Amino acid sequence: LPSKLPAVGTTIFTVMSKLAADTGALNLSQGFPNFNTDARLLDLVDKAMRQGHNQYAPMPGVPVLREAIARKTSEVYGVDYHPDFEVTVTTGATEAIFAAITTVVRPGDEVIIFEPAYDSYVPAIELNGGTPVYVTMTPPDYAPDWTQVREKITDRTRLVIVNTPQNPTGRVWTADDLTQLADLVRDRDIYLVADEVYEHIVFDGRAYHSLMSHPTLQERTFICGSFGKTFHTTGWKIGYCLAPKELTAEFRKIHQFVTFSVMTPMQVALAEYLQEPEHYLSLSAFYQRKRDLFAEILAASRFRFKLAEGTFFQTVSYAAITDEPDYDLAIRLTHEIGVASIPVSVFYHNLDDYRILRFCFAKDDEMLLRAGERLIKL
Ligand code: PMP
Ligand code: GLN
Repeated sequence: LPSKLPAVGTTIFTVMSKLAADTGALNLSQGFPNFNTDARLLDLVDKAMRQGHNQYAPMPGVPVLREAIARKTSEVYGVDYHPDFEVTVTTGATEAIFAAITTVVRPGDEVIIFEPAYDSYVPAIELNGGTPVYVTMTPPDYAPDWTQVREKITDRTRLVIVNTPQNPTGRVWTADDLTQLADLVRDRDIYLVADEVYEHIVFDGRAYHSLMSHPTLQERTFICGSFGKTFHTTGWKIGYCLAPKELTAEFRKIHQFVTFSVMTPMQVALAEYLQEPEHYLSLSAFYQRKRDLFAEILAASRFRFKLAEGTFFQTVSYAAITDEPDYDLAIRLTHEIGVASIPVSVFYHNLDDYRILRFCFAKDDEMLLRAGERLIKL
């Protein structure tokens, strides 16, 4: 069978998590917590299942969850999305992103993405016949280069994909970034996908600017969110897409034939849990403490890094330790010192000489301390 994705192999997350499991290494590679979600949320799922919420959910999502998402969005960002026409529950942000890209991109379209970029964007663009156009962000700041973006926009540019807070760099877009983007897309036929799965993990009191908070951006944006990161439930794969009515109508045509609907009892439970804002409002402080703990340990190492502004990832340069390519080093460290990480070069389309690793600090303190002890010896 001729491959539709000839350049694609198995994702780095699967490769590294399997290697960590096979070797018994501490797994700081794939982004997921090693601790359980809140017992109250589990009780709500149990209650929903026993109440009989075990059959197909409505295609766009259970009404109480769409209402809870709309209410929370209005409270946090002051932007109103109509639960019936502008909120769709999806199988993780992954499905929301895939469906949004599929809604917009046609053969011949160009899509701007910022590298290093999360790995699901490019395959989705290519399966729809689009061409990814790369804007490079460079360490340690990883700020979008607006001159580069301006140069890369053409008559064929149809979509720009934004990820803030950004995986893997931890960068959080500023108000100026949003203004620059708005100026570029204002008079053009360009749509936006905003991957905001880490919206509630922003550090040092920094303001978070969702793309929905800028009207010029909001009217053309598919906001993709996820409960996986926010409520420590990455395995539930429940996310959502917020978009203006006309965009949502087209988005739902795709969603209904990708998954049709998403598991019902989790939606019912999340609807109730979302009414309690402390669960998501406390998340930044929770992860900032972990970021600082990990950074404090690594301060004694030869790794060099700028503190992540958001997400639960810390990227580090190891240029002072070895010349090895990052992929080789990530594999070697897993085998030799029992710490698994992600080589950041995999998030670029054409980089092989790169010396940056990504560590996930969504781990209990004990695991962070044990990993740190091994890393400072390098
Ligand atoms: N976007 C980014 C930037 C991510 O890091 C992830 C991984 N959690 C996703 C999307 C996918 O989210 P989900 O697990 O909800 O599909
Ligand atoms: N988002 C997670 C990460 O960046 C991985 C999700 C996945 O394995 N697809 O590590």
